[in-house]
Amino acid sequence: MEVIAVGGYEEVGRNMTAVRVDNEVLIFDMGLCLDKLQDGEEGQESYTTKQLIAMGVIPDDSVIPKKDVVAIVCSHGHLDHIGAVDRLASTYQCPIIGTQYTIELIRSMTKNQELVTLNPGEVHDISPNFALELVHVTHSIPHSTIAAVRTPEGSIVYANDFKFDNYPILDTKTDYSKLKKLGKEGVKLLICESVRVQEGGKSASESVARELLKDLMVPDESTYFLASFSSHIERIHSICEFAKKMERKPVFLGRSLKFYVLTAAKLGIITLPDTVRFIDRYPKVSKFLAQVSENDTSREYVFLATGNQGEPNAVLSRIAIDSPLPLTNNTKVVFASETIPTPINIAHREILERRLRTHGVRIYKDAHVSGHARREDHRDLIRMLQPENIIPSHGEIEKLAAYAELASEEGYDVGKNLHLMHNSKVLEI
Ligand SMILES: [Zn+2]
Repeated sequence: MEVIAVGGYEEVGRNMTAVRVDNEVLIFDMGLCLDKLQDGEEGQESYTTKQLIAMGVIPDDSVIPKKDVVAIVCSHGHLDHIGAVDRLASTYQCPIIGTQYTIELIRSMTKNQELVTLNPGEVHDISPNFALELVHVTHSIPHSTIAAVRTPEGSIVYANDFKFDNYPILDTKTDYSKLKKLGKEGVKLLICESVRVQEGGKSASESVARELLKDLMVPDESTYFLASFSSHIERIHSICEFAKKMERKPVFLGRSLKFYVLTAAKLGIITLPDTVRFIDRYPKVSKFLAQVSENDTSREYVFLATGNQGEPNAVLSRIAIDSPLPLTNNTKVVFASETIPTPINIAHREILERRLRTHGVRIYKDAHVSGHARREDHRDLIRMLQPENIIPSHGEIEKLAAYAELASEEGYDVGKNLHLMHNSKVLEI
């Protein structure tokens, strides 16, 4: 078999990998690298696909023989895994396969593309060379999976992204028995993310983030703004629950929150309280906050706002500049998120926090746990699967090298059965 590293082998983002067996090719993921865009997700509309490839925003898929591709498998719904679908997928004559939530998110990005929903545990015979099973795994967005593909030349496991959360909030635990079964059957190749492999120990459970939030969201006289990742439905569920305990109504401010949360509600992943309210466009947000100010009713609500990374066009940044509801030293802003450590995000967050502080706002950071496996979680996965070969993915060279160091502790040798790739590299296994 041949593995083509398309994107995500020199950066965190724009994940895309292709595997060729015989004369057929299967693609895993088709993602964006958002921090290469100065003006965020919406900014990409002003560029051509060719320009976005040259800028490193979307993968350069010219290395893939397009006519041989039989399917695109999307592991989960994060934009760094599905965000390039709208630009690239239409050039392939094949279906896109994923779990329910992932496919619902993709549906809004595509026209005339065949979309196939596959539930974890079901096997889908894609072609003579590829039989796909999606294995349920915990991460930080609903319906995340590790893709297992059986081929005549052996099985491929694509673990990009995952964590092992034994106390998820809405989700169920990772299907460990399936992973062990795959290991017993024999795995020819593991392609594995490396986003947090440099951090030791185990990634903390979502139940830890829930406790952090519980401690912060208490009945008092403050105005509460919460900021989290719009697709982190478990986190949003916890925020809604604590809002209820505070006898406040959750109000979602911003477009992406509305999109991800309502999609999850439609599929029954989250049950929203009757009192919930969504306000998507900023002029409406502004009008609503002005009313709250006029009626002095801010203590009736918990405001969940977009913009946890300090994105300039998101609600939180706009409020920080000019809020119709005055920000004071009785306003609390809780970041149920972390800053994704790229220079542009760090700069945006710094600007946002400075602006908030000029109003005397009380800032609470890091009510958060990561959705990515740490070093010992990765070791667990290697031991469960005992793959013949490993390719670390989803990271710059430092992350891939850190994964390689861990794998070498588990008996793998670089160049022999442990392979370091870069974008556009093709490897025969
Ligand atoms: Zn992810």
